Amino acid sequence: MQPLIDSFGRTHNNLRISVTDRCNIRCFYCMPAENVEFMPRADLLSFEEIERFVRLMVPLGVDKLRLTGGEPLVRRDLPVLVEKLASIDGIRDVGLTTNGILLAEQAESLYGAGLRRLNVSLDALDADKFREITRRDGYEKVIAGIHAAQDAGFDPVKINAVAIRGITESELVGFGHFARETGCEVRFIEYMPLDADAAWERDKVLFAEEIIDTLSQEIRPLVPLATQDSRAPATAYEFDDGIGRIGLIASVSRPFCMSCNRFRLTADGKLRNCLFSLEETDIKSLLRGHAPDGDIIQAVRGSIAAKKEGHEINTARFIQPARPMHSIGG
Ligand code: SAM
Ligand code: SF4
Repeated sequence: MQPLIDSFGRTHNNLRISVTDRCNIRCFYCMPAENVEFMPRADLLSFEEIERFVRLMVPLGVDKLRLTGGEPLVRRDLPVLVEKLASIDGIRDVGLTTNGILLAEQAESLYGAGLRRLNVSLDALDADKFREITRRDGYEKVIAGIHAAQDAGFDPVKINAVAIRGITESELVGFGHFARETGCEVRFIEYMPLDADAAWERDKVLFAEEIIDTLSQEIRPLVPLATQDSRAPATAYEFDDGIGRIGLIASVSRPFCMSCNRFRLTADGKLRNCLFSLEETDIKSLLRGHAPDGDIIQAVRGSIAAKKEGHEINTARFIQPARPMHSIGG
């Protein structure tokens, strides 16, 4: 079958699946502080619906999945879904992005279910700062979750830290040492306009170049790895003594849209061809209406064909999507 190629020649093999929009913390760059309106549970795709969709995508070239949310570990029996997806012929790997709060309890069963790629989001190595960002307690649980994941066999565990001016600077050196001491790759993600409060401004982004400069000056020079995955959003660096990996996801200062291979399924079954899409394709209605496979495939092809050249964050034309990050699936 013809692969999922858009009008700019980009092939889409990487599907991110959100399993819930709910979360047990409230990061300010993703969710409102209060009165979050969550999707009714009946709107969430069932594991069987997700599995059917993935099975349809495999012949179109999809071989990489990542489960996300909201917080995926609040979805009951998540390892059951991991097992279903990891055992599909043609799926090369299944990853998961989590805030780590419930990870200590679930790391082993997730690994046992076939999960191998794990990213834990942690923006600060200080409990007070963690509370300021997430509006909840839980720093110790995340650290315990990271250790439990390493003990369960995840290697490497990657850490995602959102890079926000005025907040992240004081964390950089600590994270540099954390990467060197734990073997976790720490990836800094430039803060993007996907917050629920629409308070993002370009001046609030801590740029990748500044992070590299600070870590290089304060710890040791960072050098780019000789081999990079050309389709991965992160550029990977290593300290010059070979100890400690750092990734930089420069979504704002160095957009990587032209090598994008991703598309997303929201927890309520809407297909998004870009994080910043303003349009969605309703897959849930097709799944629930028992549409033939061909109709679902056609709908996906239509969504991919309509993908725009890139996000327009750095232009006056940029319009922030109505869905905040927790409801898209980061
Ligand atoms: N709850 C899980 C977690 O936090 O890892 C998974 C969902 S979260 C939306 C996925 C990733 O998106 C996290 O690493 C989070 O830090 C990141 N993220 C959320 N809002 C963001 C924003 N406005 N800019 C950049 N990254 C963001
Ligand atoms: Fe929850 Fe993840 Fe959003 Fe933080 S970034 S509020 S942990 S969904």
